[in-house]
Amino acid sequence: MKFRRYLRGSGRVLAFVFIASVVWLLFDMAALRLSISDVNGQLLKELVIKERELAKREKIKDTNIRKYPVHRDVEAETRLNLLEKTVVEVYRQEKSGRNRGEVNVQPKLDTKTQQTMKKPNRNEPNHDVNTKPESTPEVNDKKVVLVGTTKPPAGKKENIVIVSHGEKLGTNATKVHQIQPDLSTKIPQNTHFVNNSSHLAGLDSQSKQHKQEKPTNDVQELDQPKDNTVIKVDDKHLNIAVKPSHPRTTPLAHPDELLNSTFVRKSGGLHKVMSLDMTLKPRDAHAPGQFGQAAEVPPDMLEESRRRWPEGHFNVFLSEQIPVDRAIPDTRPPACGEKLIPDNLPTTSVIFCFVDEVWSTLLRSVHSVLNRSPPHLLKEILLVDDCSTKDFLKDKLDAYMSQLPKVRIIRLKERHGLIRARLAGAAEAKGDVLTFLDSHIECNVGWLEPLLERVYLDRRKVACPVIEVINDNDMSYTMVDNFQRGIFKWPLVFGWSTIPRDYIKKHNVKVADPIRCPVMAGGLFSIDKKYFYELGGYDPGLDVWGGENMELSFKIWMCGGEIEIIPCSRVGHIFRGENPYGFPKDRQKTVERNLARVAEVWLDDYKEVFYGHGYLHLLDKKSIDIGNLTEQIHLRQKLQCKSFKWYLESVYPELDTPPAKAEGLVFNKGVRKCLVLEKDSLAFETCDLSKQSQLFSYSWLRTLRHNASCLSPNVTERRVAVETCDNTKRDHRWLYQTSKVLAEHLIAEGSPRNLCLEAGSKSDAVYLRSCEASSPFQKWHFTHNYA
Ligand code: UDP
Ligand code: MN
Repeated sequence: MKFRRYLRGSGRVLAFVFIASVVWLLFDMAALRLSISDVNGQLLKELVIKERELAKREKIKDTNIRKYPVHRDVEAETRLNLLEKTVVEVYRQEKSGRNRGEVNVQPKLDTKTQQTMKKPNRNEPNHDVNTKPESTPEVNDKKVVLVGTTKPPAGKKENIVIVSHGEKLGTNATKVHQIQPDLSTKIPQNTHFVNNSSHLAGLDSQSKQHKQEKPTNDVQELDQPKDNTVIKVDDKHLNIAVKPSHPRTTPLAHPDELLNSTFVRKSGGLHKVMSLDMTLKPRDAHAPGQFGQAAEVPPDMLEESRRRWPEGHFNVFLSEQIPVDRAIPDTRPPACGEKLIPDNLPTTSVIFCFVDEVWSTLLRSVHSVLNRSPPHLLKEILLVDDCSTKDFLKDKLDAYMSQLPKVRIIRLKERHGLIRARLAGAAEAKGDVLTFLDSHIECNVGWLEPLLERVYLDRRKVACPVIEVINDNDMSYTMVDNFQRGIFKWPLVFGWSTIPRDYIKKHNVKVADPIRCPVMAGGLFSIDKKYFYELGGYDPGLDVWGGENMELSFKIWMCGGEIEIIPCSRVGHIFRGENPYGFPKDRQKTVERNLARVAEVWLDDYKEVFYGHGYLHLLDKKSIDIGNLTEQIHLRQKLQCKSFKWYLESVYPELDTPPAKAEGLVFNKGVRKCLVLEKDSLAFETCDLSKQSQLFSYSWLRTLRHNASCLSPNVTERRVAVETCDNTKRDHRWLYQTSKVLAEHLIAEGSPRNLCLEAGSKSDAVYLRSCEASSPFQKWHFTHNYA
């Protein structure tokens, strides 16, 4: 009855209007044909719901990580087949050759789905940062930081540990069971990507300019648009289709051929970041390590896996079981997928240097670039073989890579190390931008455009992706904390540091905002090729490994550039406990020598701080030859680079670096007066801060200095001379301790017996006397003590 009342009078009219609109809308939709994105969205939703249900069920069954070998999961298989069928129907593709040449376009997942895809992170106890409203970011006080990262201090073996308040958390990531379907949508091959607005008419000179060179194998037909499906790329979705294609008569192309497809872009326009994720064949949801999950070595293979560990200093056995084009979770902050990117980005040459890299990781690195980079932006991949010794990296690698037209191998005749190997790669590069990557990485979806965008916006910006962790033990892909920047501590030790919470709040820093870094980690970055050469590239005098990230970082900042981490670009990297390759010379000495070169060229007076932190022995030119620095010093002058003081004050003010260990007046507790240096002789006077002659410094090199004059202990005569400072002389050095037995004593370093600086009781001069802990005449106090 009540219901009927609604259908009376104006209610009836309203109901009629409503029903009519619905019917009209349905017709309209049918007429327009559902856009692929809607279909995909629907598919996606259904899958996500199914997925969650399945995950719940699976969780009950098995809360552990996926074991290897994996049991076949019939349900998931059916689900995948269904998806495949539906997608094929949507595209009206015939089935023949479906397994070749598919392009998977990673669908845009809603924030929630993305969250469920994320693995809990050993580096990120507070993974809520991403999900919290960006205006009120929360950074956990119990910050877990990744230490050691890619650059251990010289002489110390790299040891990757995760520490939380100084505690080791161990090396295994939290294990979770995660099932993800292949949510990918397949785009038929022979596909031309076109920008929505420019469409086909946009095939102008600008777009032709970006056409890739023709591959050397049989894919010429790619450039003939006759039989091609057209995929429109509009501002919202990459894969809004759809001009139905004619039934295919030619075999499907190899994915690499697709990389040579033409992307037509409108000059000056914007498009949504391309989240490409191509695969060689449909992904096996059960393959070990699929979706970036942890894989496990079966008990009977443990011995084998242990035996093979040294080949790469990670789980080489497991890596071999994982598909070369496995999926990994899209760990980008949600805002990244919505980002608009300029259409006319520069192209890049990706340069991988390697020496005795493990086969499976090298391939996975290369495929991750091929599969997840917009083809028109990827000019080439250069593999620089730094004189590897492994056989499989010769003919077998040549044969494999010859199938991939974009990949070129450059062989170095002798081992140069990664620095000169990168220079060799750069010299061959044809792209506008150089992108250097380590040879055991996995690029995540959408990794490239955000990097190139920064270089495009300002050619002096050097863009680094967020380096995520591929676990060396279980090969899982783990995201890292947000708001991390690359820093260094003395003596030039690279590390990560979280941007303070207050700063984030005050400046309203968003999780996807680029982060300026005082130094880069070194392994992965994009730099404008011309700018790289303007900066003189790397110092070619740096050997093998180490210090080059410091060199390039200081050079970039001090000579007018900037270094940024781009949170929308993410690349996984296997952090290894040890270098799996040998060093032609002693490892420790090689790294120390590199660092000394960097210090001499770039640190000005601050090089003393470097040497003062455990590297005083490098000052002894008899025991180490750091090589000729003339060219490097000349380059710095030519580029009119700023001072290191400027760098510290403007780029990295957080690094509080006092000019000396102690300085100011030097007060003696016995005579209760201050040391004074006048006309090369030492005496005492009533303390007066305004008097230049009373100001001394106890330098980082442990010299007692007044301007260029140093107090030089004469051990045999037990007196103190004043000489022009010579940093290389060990007997100019004093040990000054504030907290040990001989607190506040100045102990002559070159003397075999403990001889201390003592004030004459008549306060007329200073002498060297055997150290006495209680003597006030041997106790000295500096106005400022920074140590
Ligand atoms: N590399 C090289 N020659 C060398 C040392 C390293 O080509 O003498 C390569 C190595 O294969 C890797 C990259 O340079 O692709 C960085 O080296 P590594 O991964 O050992 O550095 P880390 O990540 O530990 O800093
Ligand atoms: Mn590496």
